Amino acid sequence: MALDRDAAAAVCDAIDQDRLLGTAVALVDIPSPTRAAAQIADHLGAMLDEGGFEVARVEAGWPDAPAVIARFRTDRPGRTLQFNGHLDTVHLPFVPARVEAGNLYGSGAADMKGGLAAAIEAMRVLRDLRALPAGGVLLTAHDLHEAPWGDGSQVDTLIDEGYIGDGVLLPEYLCDRLPVVGRGLALFETRVTRDGQPVHEVLGGIDQPSVIHAGAELIRQLRAMDQSLAEKTHPLAGRESLFVGQMHSGEIYNQAPTELTLSGTRRWLPGTSFLDVERQFREILYETAHGEGVRIEGGVKLARDAFEISPQDPLVTTFQAAHRHVTEAVLPLGAKPFVDDGNCFVERAGIPAITHGPNALGAHTIEEVVPIAELLRVARVYAVTAMAFCAGDDV
Ligand SMILES: [Zn+2]
Repeated sequence: MALDRDAAAAVCDAIDQDRLLGTAVALVDIPSPTRAAAQIADHLGAMLDEGGFEVARVEAGWPDAPAVIARFRTDRPGRTLQFNGHLDTVHLPFVPARVEAGNLYGSGAADMKGGLAAAIEAMRVLRDLRALPAGGVLLTAHDLHEAPWGDGSQVDTLIDEGYIGDGVLLPEYLCDRLPVVGRGLALFETRVTRDGQPVHEVLGGIDQPSVIHAGAELIRQLRAMDQSLAEKTHPLAGRESLFVGQMHSGEIYNQAPTELTLSGTRRWLPGTSFLDVERQFREILYETAHGEGVRIEGGVKLARDAFEISPQDPLVTTFQAAHRHVTEAVLPLGAKPFVDDGNCFVERAGIPAITHGPNALGAHTIEEVVPIAELLRVARVYAVTAMAFCAGDDV
């Protein structure tokens, strides 16, 4: 069964700009830095409850701000499409909502309260018009997303506790491609130390094991590793990498220091396991420390694992059909340049996840802005995707 174009057009027409924008403004106007999303979660839960949705609040390992779960189901068997968003924002000075010249400004407008409001509007219209042929829609909204303040554990717990659909859309600010693959990301931090105190170069400093030479050797080894990782490539996602972003040591030009710190990122492709990533890194630290007479501590910390979904997956094909219906454009398949909660849905639960949101600017700055036209577009694409995906139309 192909997409019912008349029904889809009726749903697109019914997307209500004032209601969508009202929701977005209300969400932006509640400050919610990571680990402090209780108030916004309470507000959202109450709003969806008053709006007639089936709402539950679940702690998912974070009782300070229980996640919001809202459902809307038909009584006909079909797939469940999940909309997932984070309610928290990065820790920057709060900017209240402001609507000006067709744009919404304010904390979280781009990342990702605007997109979440669009998903909510899609759910409302599907229900009001009884437009979902079968199945249902599940909305999940949570805290603890933004690093380094959050660790992603609330969404991980939601997934592990079974608050999942058969496919997920995440309205983060990415819209120029259909991301079917994404690299994994780990951050590394290492500390090179030697015994003793900092000492003047001519008072014995010259005879100490040098943490700076050891650091240089470590960087050389890491560079060699990056060069060999460059051979692991993916046609859409590029190459694996090991990137050194920071290195600090020394206090005075003629003093032998006792410590050097080094940090950066490791990114990998589907097919490489995080356990391998950890093991390779540990081996380099061990060998360098051994050769240089210093101690090297530290390691890699997982942010999100790599993922890949099939271009033939029903979520991909129905999403593409919906996108084309709404915008008349086909999205090229591509890679997700960042990591987000979508990686976790694919890796932890084995369900497909597509990150797609408004063409917004200023994420992780105090200049967040999203065009209202983009919020309407996302609401329409989400609603039409649900119509096809939930019905089982593998267009
Ligand atoms: Zn975000």
